[in-house]
Amino acid sequence: MIPIAKPYLTEEEAQAAYDTILTGWITQGPKVQEFEEKFAAHTGAKYAVAVSNCTTALHLSMIVAGIGQGDEVICPSMSYIATANAIKYVGAIPVFAEVQPNTYNLDPVDVERRITNRTKAILVVHQIGMPADIDAFKKICKKHSLKLIEDAACAAGSAYKGKKIGSHSELVCFSFHPRKVISTGDGGMVTTNREDYYNRLKLLRQHGMSVNDRVRHEANKVIFEDHVEVGYNYRMTDIQASVGIKQLEKLDWIVEERRKIATTYNKAFKNIKSIRLPLEEDGYFSNYQSYSIYLKNSSSIARNTLMQTLLDKGVTSRRGIMTTHRESAYKDYKAHTKLPISEDLQDNSILLPLYIPMSEEQINYVVESFLEIVEPKVFNT
Ligand SMILES: *Cc1c(COP(=O)(O)O)cnc(C)c1O
Repeated sequence: MIPIAKPYLTEEEAQAAYDTILTGWITQGPKVQEFEEKFAAHTGAKYAVAVSNCTTALHLSMIVAGIGQGDEVICPSMSYIATANAIKYVGAIPVFAEVQPNTYNLDPVDVERRITNRTKAILVVHQIGMPADIDAFKKICKKHSLKLIEDAACAAGSAYKGKKIGSHSELVCFSFHPRKVISTGDGGMVTTNREDYYNRLKLLRQHGMSVNDRVRHEANKVIFEDHVEVGYNYRMTDIQASVGIKQLEKLDWIVEERRKIATTYNKAFKNIKSIRLPLEEDGYFSNYQSYSIYLKNSSSIARNTLMQTLLDKGVTSRRGIMTTHRESAYKDYKAHTKLPISEDLQDNSILLPLYIPMSEEQINYVVESFLEIVEPKVFNT
């Protein structure tokens, strides 16, 4: 059975967790600080703040960006549901915009159309690792005085116009869930170039506490903390961070390996007329967190049959990126939301297995199985 994804974890990560446990300092300590410094350096951002996952990273980003009750935030419906949920957590209203069919990324033209006098921010998602057109959204934000927040949950190691994701705007949120390119079990990070955001994020993730544990631990005088605002417990543990440090060392290599598999798929499928492959334009560099194929002139029934037939052959697949407005939790949206492109993409695209290490045999087996079903004539010649 070929799975859809698998985290790349080695003895090194296990040893790091083991070593950290035996130091006795297992949360919000030196390993968290080291991971933050190394992650910031890797992305090219000035600061990084580790948190418990990307959903909490997004929640805190909403708060520091000043988004609150009744504000509108434009985001794609086509994303993992956590994107829109983070907007709701602060009492704001997700306003769903359409995506571009060939990249699955937010369409800047449709985003601009949906701006009202209540719009406060754009929450852009780098879909399954493919960077969105950040400059286009920066321009819109500047023109309309909006905040830009990046949901880069899937985009660690991706780059836009030669610079890593994480270095382009004021609030960029990453995930280290096992389904992403590097993992700490659960975990998240916010990168920022703003010192004021950096300081507020550190307060909010730890109960609003004015003195962090490390400072108190290292102090040779008694100090008492104050809780300066109502914060949260969104801490990352040092066990997770020590795993993250090892994962980060491998990130660029992991991305290169993933890109090799994506290239093999691209070559194998490039002549099939009935499908559309992922588009990576000049200036865009994807980590291929997922490999998505769109089935032209299809129906969701045909897509589901394809998935079942693949599964019967031992190849796991997933349907395309979900659309939030069609989930029960967002049933209020269903009647008045018209996003034909997003719905079509969700219904007619399929994600193929992509993880490392994936043997040549496994890659070829996925290719052959897919061709056998989608292009039986070509396959048999
Ligand atoms: C995975 C994901 C999230 C949530 O990340 P967690 O770390 O699981 O909270 C948010 N947005 C997108 C686009 C994701 O893919």
